Amino acid sequence: AKGLGKNQQCLYDEEMGLQEVRKMELEKDLQRALEMKEFFIVYQPKWNVQSDRLVGFEALLRWKHPRLGVISPQEFIPIAEETGLIIPMTRWTLEEACKQCRVWQDSGVVQPVSVNLSVRLFHGDNLLELIQNVLHKADLEPRLLELEITESMVLHDVNDIIRQLGSIRSLGVKVSMDDFGTGYSSIGLLDRIPIDALKLDRQFTNDLDTPSKRAIVNAVVLMAEKLNLDVIAEGVENKEHIDFLTGLGCHVMQGYYYGKPMDIHEIEVWMYDQDHK
Ligand code: C2E
Ligand code: CA
Ligand code: CA
Ligand code: CA
Repeated sequence: AKGLGKNQQCLYDEEMGLQEVRKMELEKDLQRALEMKEFFIVYQPKWNVQSDRLVGFEALLRWKHPRLGVISPQEFIPIAEETGLIIPMTRWTLEEACKQCRVWQDSGVVQPVSVNLSVRLFHGDNLLELIQNVLHKADLEPRLLELEITESMVLHDVNDIIRQLGSIRSLGVKVSMDDFGTGYSSIGLLDRIPIDALKLDRQFTNDLDTPSKRAIVNAVVLMAEKLNLDVIAEGVENKEHIDFLTGLGCHVMQGYYYGKPMDIHEIEVWMYDQDHK
């Protein structure tokens, strides 16, 4: 038993070591990844079930590491946030997504694209100015850009973030609250934070087994309605999810059922398929 314990300890240390080494490696490589154009964006459709129409795309970042392959944002975004690289990375993502949105618009697909923001953006240089510049450069109407923020962002410097969001929204840019209902709850702030929509986290969409879980989702949808907020259900994977959500009056969905995040070529094929169904 003693020997086993020792082995386990050994494996554990090795494991931690590997994780640390990988993190340090990614940290170092992240610096160059932007210049080397190793990032690309995948787009996931948002679908309105009632009108049976595409209503937008979410831009999700991917990193194609030359040696390690495609790396998930869940792994590299936290590192980018720690190092501050998230700011130039988000600027790039905004520029690319707006450029792509303009390309779609020119081809007749006039749908907004949403980009995830990290809290660091609110503490860096003027975010409003950054957004204005990006829109100008892409020649994109502000109503075609949406920003996704999370509840935890609003915990600190509430007033400052409210002020910044207010001025960004007055451009016509939309703002939605991502992952709503997970982590820190901002329910008490919902009437003060200037947003257009709530995104119901996929944790809720995927866990509708008990009456109490369903009651929570029901309450969130009702509350959003009263507050004049749209609701977008995330992680919609099957017909059961759709039936339940539409029954509650939630009509906009995002999830594997409608489409996975896709690169621009895959999106083109996907859009063609939708038109020829
Ligand atoms: P998120 O903003 O909540 O994005 C939704 C995530 O759920 C995406 O994972 C998407 O691929 C996944 N997803 C969508 N539909 C389904 C479904 O039906 N089932 C399941 N199981 N999953 C689904 P992804 O692309 O790995 O992104 C993970 C997180 O990384 C994002 O969560 C977001 O917080 C962050 N992220 C991604 N791109 C960016 C970015 O450009 N900037 C920032 N700051 N964060 C980003
Ligand atoms: Ca998001
Ligand atoms: Ca989300
Ligand atoms: Ca999430």
